Amino acid sequence: MAKDIIQAIGLSINLKGFKNGNHIGLCPFHKEKTPSFVVSEKKNRFYCLGCGKAGDGDDYIRLMQESALSAQIKYLQLKAKNILNKKNKMGKNE
Ligand SMILES: [Zn+2]
Repeated sequence: MAKDIIQAIGLSINLKGFKNGNHIGLCPFHKEKTPSFVVSEKKNRFYCLGCGKAGDGDDYIRLMQESALSAQIKYLQLKAKNILNKKNKMGKNE
């Protein structure tokens, strides 16, 4: 049961055994080169020493969803801006 969180989070992050049943990997919520994302098998929780994100398995899923959504929104924002900029430029040429 306690290992479930390791398995669940291990789907998206490459986790390595750390100490005292803790696992460590690169945080999916902020950019980093040195792993600071710790998942505790005993506590059934995760926490990031870099950005401070923490919680249980459900929180992890929610945060993943949020970051996926915000990435998608940023992409759509950029696309929308490009379309509007192009239209503006074309309008000036006419
Ligand atoms: Zn982080």
